[in-house]
Amino acid sequence: MKKWVYLFEEGNKDMRDLLGGKGAGVAEMTNAGLPVPPGFTITTEACNEYFRIGKQFPDSLWDQALAALKTIENKTGKKFGDPGNPLLVSVRSGAKFSMPGMMDTVLNIGLNPDTQAGLAGLTGNPRFAQDAYRRLIQMFGKTVKGIPGEKFEHILNKHKAKTKGKQDTDLTTDRLQDVVKEYKALYTKELGVEFPDDVVEQLRQGIEAVFASWFGKRAVDYRNFSKISHDLGTGVNVQTMVFGNMGDDSATGVAFTRDPATGAKELYGEYLANAQGEDVVAGIRTPKKIVELGDDMPGVYQQFEDVAVRLEKHYRDVQDLEFTVERGKLYMLQTRTGKRTAKAAVKIAVDLAHEGLITKEEAIQRVEPSQINQLLLPRFDDKAKQSGAFLAKGLNASPGAATGVAVFDADTAEAWGKNGKAVILVRPETNPDDVHGMLVAKGILTQRGGATSHAAVVARGLGKPCVAGTEAIRVDDDRKLFSVDGKTITEGDFISIDGSTGEVYAGPIATIEPDFSQETELIELLSWADEIRRLGVWANADYPKDALKAREFGAEGIGLCRTEHMFFEQERLPFVQQMILNASEAQSKLDALARAEADLARRPENKDAKKALAAAKKAAAASPAVKAYKRALARLLPFQRKDFEGIFKAMDGLPVIIRLIDPPLHEFLPSHDDLLVQVTEMRTKGQKGKRLREAERMLAAVESMREMNPMLGLRGIRLGITYPDILKMQVRAIFEAACNMQAKGIQVKPEVMIPLTGHVNELAVSQGALEAVAQQVMQAKGVEVEYKFGTMIEVPRAALTAGEIARYAQFFSFGTNDLTQTTYGYSRDDAEGKFLLRYVEEKVLPANPFQELDRDGVGQLVKMAVEQGRATRADLEVGICGEHGGDPSSIEFCHNAGLNYVSCSPFRVPIARLAAAQAALGAVVRDK
Ligand code: PEP
Ligand code: MG
Repeated sequence: MKKWVYLFEEGNKDMRDLLGGKGAGVAEMTNAGLPVPPGFTITTEACNEYFRIGKQFPDSLWDQALAALKTIENKTGKKFGDPGNPLLVSVRSGAKFSMPGMMDTVLNIGLNPDTQAGLAGLTGNPRFAQDAYRRLIQMFGKTVKGIPGEKFEHILNKHKAKTKGKQDTDLTTDRLQDVVKEYKALYTKELGVEFPDDVVEQLRQGIEAVFASWFGKRAVDYRNFSKISHDLGTGVNVQTMVFGNMGDDSATGVAFTRDPATGAKELYGEYLANAQGEDVVAGIRTPKKIVELGDDMPGVYQQFEDVAVRLEKHYRDVQDLEFTVERGKLYMLQTRTGKRTAKAAVKIAVDLAHEGLITKEEAIQRVEPSQINQLLLPRFDDKAKQSGAFLAKGLNASPGAATGVAVFDADTAEAWGKNGKAVILVRPETNPDDVHGMLVAKGILTQRGGATSHAAVVARGLGKPCVAGTEAIRVDDDRKLFSVDGKTITEGDFISIDGSTGEVYAGPIATIEPDFSQETELIELLSWADEIRRLGVWANADYPKDALKAREFGAEGIGLCRTEHMFFEQERLPFVQQMILNASEAQSKLDALARAEADLARRPENKDAKKALAAAKKAAAASPAVKAYKRALARLLPFQRKDFEGIFKAMDGLPVIIRLIDPPLHEFLPSHDDLLVQVTEMRTKGQKGKRLREAERMLAAVESMREMNPMLGLRGIRLGITYPDILKMQVRAIFEAACNMQAKGIQVKPEVMIPLTGHVNELAVSQGALEAVAQQVMQAKGVEVEYKFGTMIEVPRAALTAGEIARYAQFFSFGTNDLTQTTYGYSRDDAEGKFLLRYVEEKVLPANPFQELDRDGVGQLVKMAVEQGRATRADLEVGICGEHGGDPSSIEFCHNAGLNYVSCSPFRVPIARLAAAQAALGAVVRDK
């Protein structure tokens, strides 16, 4: 016969799967000899079986429950349903993880008019017995039968209002009798049946309601959100009642063994004298602080403190305790791992390790990496949050909280921001034209776009909060407003966004600013993580200030410096545009010249070849495009050199991977549609002259560069091979900067990264010429720097042929944003806004592959590339620089795949340090 029911003394703390957290907790306390009222637990397996066989109690479950009840009767000397000495029990749910949405406790099961009279006689307290019955009907009606709680409250409040003191304790026995009468009438009216005075029936219905609540909507939603499996089932705990409401020598309370908000080592909780458990939660009277129990009941308090210390030591973690004092005697009703804030989680883990209760390794495993984020970003004060009005929820694209006035274009954001106003930039979606506004904004809100949209990536890089893909809002940037649910926010109105949750509020909400250097416990915990982890943690940083931040957070290198971001700055953009507009024509002249030179080199005495070279030289020298192209490159070179000098200086002694230009060039030019409108308007207004000609030229250039799929078009190394002089300029800038800095005593380790390689020949034709530039610069400067050339692995073909690619590349960096895009065939810019979130919600995909690395698909390519690459080049350095580099699950994958390092945005470096250590320690099951 299957065992469905366990007495408390038959269980222990390791039986959470079978007995649920609560059941395992009371079992453990019982066996530790603590004062726990006797009871039993019905297993989670029974719950699963109940659903499997069509919502029926499995065979023999009921008999086992009744047998267990008999044992309790024997222990307590009371009898269930016996007016002479009635046993009363509570029924509570208890799954493996405590979760909202499960059925609340029902107390006082076993009461009916007869047993109530018995209880009155035994206790000599008719009022108490009457109140206990009143509570049973209320709780049973509400939690088991779903009658709205307000209806009971309404009746109770009406009667309370008629008393002198207006408190629940002021209700006399007679009045409580009236309340019971009205409760019963309400029950019958709502349900069409009478309240069950058969005590066995009360118990049966109570147990069944707990089972049923496992698939209640709120519980299902919570499990989906917290990634808790639906097949765990819930346990049901049936426990002898003890009463905290038997007079002033009785009380009930809840307490944590340490402060769950700050982690401070002191009992934290509250209690109510002469009350039952639900009164504390319901807030009917203001509870007292737990320390005050020391004055009211010194003996009990002392005993409770001892129990708390004992339980914390026993479980080696903070406990969340429930207790009741019945006529001066302490009873423990529950112990479970205490939920805590991020701050407390870190402090408690470090303190427990110092106290010798847990090891450093365990301390590392105790903290959820994503929690750390909360400590390093501005966040809303929980109380202050109530001052905002909720508007909508979007994608939590970049964590942190921000409050400011809404602005709808980057120029206004910049102007207002520079004037010291806190602004939130609101856009339908962002593009590189918006970056100057994003730089000064406190946060970014977009209507469209996903977790790797421009807004999300740039915001994460900047460490600014961003809520993206907020499909519920309608942004009208022409009219400078957005609307949602009939409400309108216009330019200058305060809004607040929480990038950690995706919430958007109207109105200002106060934020709390973080300071890493003050987070001493976190710093200590991370130093332990550093001793354990094998993976390096580098950062993606484009600017010296980001590099410095990354270093402060513990980055050991720069894994990705996206050089093109520097091109977007206002003073440079004109030169970048000049470079682009002339590139095609100039490059064709320069290519012709190069071909003529090569030809002559092959046949040095040939007259035709000499002539052809002279002609090509002349054509190049006379070409305005070549001049403009070279001039633009020459103007950009010093800007880039300065940028790199700053980064090398900031990263003194550490490797810096600089990626050569990657995006399609049109991203640096005005939008085609805007230009078309501009030119058309100028023409219809009959305008002529230079401005029109310039606009037309720009339009023609943009048109000639238009691509159907720019992400699959002329970008990355394809661009570098088409316009090699751009890359040469960048390499020159890198090595000039490196030599200059090294000459100043700074240790530089540049690594030049070629993006989007798909075929080994792409490196074969480009890398040599770029290395030659590096050599030239070093020779000219008389300085040797340690350097590497390598490539990103961002398309499946590169991963599939990694062995060949490693013949050239000294390092690989997995650009898993593109690799995910190209492996799935999903457009990064469109997928999240269009279908991906639904895919995740409806479980078509287990997770968003742009956030959490897809191990089965993309992961296979990564593993294959690592193996093949290292087969060719044993010391190949391998890292990841896609967004996944800061995601704990992906970091675990990278650890197992043997990567050397992960690279992520500076603000995620601490998370990555912890996650990398956890990966090295192996899997843990953490309470959800
Ligand atoms: C990538 O593709 O993962 C990457 C880091 O490059 P980007 O996001 O700049 O395309
Ligand atoms: Mg990429």
